[in-house]
Amino acid sequence: MALTRQQYDSLMQSYAYTRDQHRRELSRRRDYVYAKIPDFRRLDEEIYTLGGQELKKQLAGAGAGSAAEDGTGSTASGAERPDSEGSFAARIASVSRRKRELLRSVSLPEDYLDPIYTCPDCRDTGYIDGQKCHCLKAAQIRILYDQSHLKELVRDNNFDSLSESWYEGEDLSKFRKAVLNCRSFINNFDSGYENLYFYGTVGTGKSFLSISTAQEVLRTGHSVLYFSASGLFETISSYLFDYKNRDDYRQFTGDLYDCDLLVIDDLGTEMMSSLVSSQLFTCINERHILGRSTIISSNLSLEELQQRYSERVYSRIISSYTMCKLTGPDIRVLKKVRNRNPWNH
Ligand SMILES: [Zn+2]
Repeated sequence: MALTRQQYDSLMQSYAYTRDQHRRELSRRRDYVYAKIPDFRRLDEEIYTLGGQELKKQLAGAGAGSAAEDGTGSTASGAERPDSEGSFAARIASVSRRKRELLRSVSLPEDYLDPIYTCPDCRDTGYIDGQKCHCLKAAQIRILYDQSHLKELVRDNNFDSLSESWYEGEDLSKFRKAVLNCRSFINNFDSGYENLYFYGTVGTGKSFLSISTAQEVLRTGHSVLYFSASGLFETISSYLFDYKNRDDYRQFTGDLYDCDLLVIDDLGTEMMSSLVSSQLFTCINERHILGRSTIISSNLSLEELQQRYSERVYSRIISSYTMCKLTGPDIRVLKKVRNRNPWNH
């Protein structure tokens, strides 16, 4: 399943729109600085003049150089060039330093007039050296696999709404430890490869932590796919048995194995079959080989996990995932009781 021409065009238009917005903002900032610091404009003009002079010099040098190649000119200009470049660079650096000082003098950050990018990696073009940037891949995944349910889920499940008030004693210690694991997972997402496995009884905050963590990763422009376990295996089956569209299946599994973060929520609630076990192994193993992080949440105990799926699924999870066990009463039930008895806080 690839983007249609129309979807791709509209995506590229949104990149153009972003670049345009940033250009406008930069221009607004420049006008503001020119009005506030008249000397700043003079320094900008000095840079343009220096640039123009340097360009002229280089063109003259290139002309002389090509003449020399023809055997009709002198090579002296070639020897002069490094010196003139050196002094040009030094003069530009000096003007830039003065500009930064001026910005600081009116309490503006030094980079106030630097180009603005939503994605500095591709400078909001979607491509780096002809290859798709991670931000473009993330946008494609958002369009291809309707993740609107994830958007709805993060409204109620995010770290801003995190509350410890549902836990006490040993349950609270486990919850705090799991939160620390999530924070470390988020902070190290770009530099390391880690997987999280939340398990424990129903309503202890496993989905909450999975979704909240996914939201933080999404915020930093990464590609995230979220599936309930039953939704994931139904989707895989529908692609797998649609023999006419093998390309769609390949594209889907490509994205499934390669997206920056995959969340499989509620593992164990899907209809069990040998296909599920083998597909689950392939999925988590491929992602492990590619070094792509996965978060799984499950109501199954470790013994049930071992019995339900193949031994290799169990060993892969035990060996490559940070295990977070959550315990306590069912929060969803507690919430209902509290809502019924508002004084009972
Ligand atoms: Zn990018």
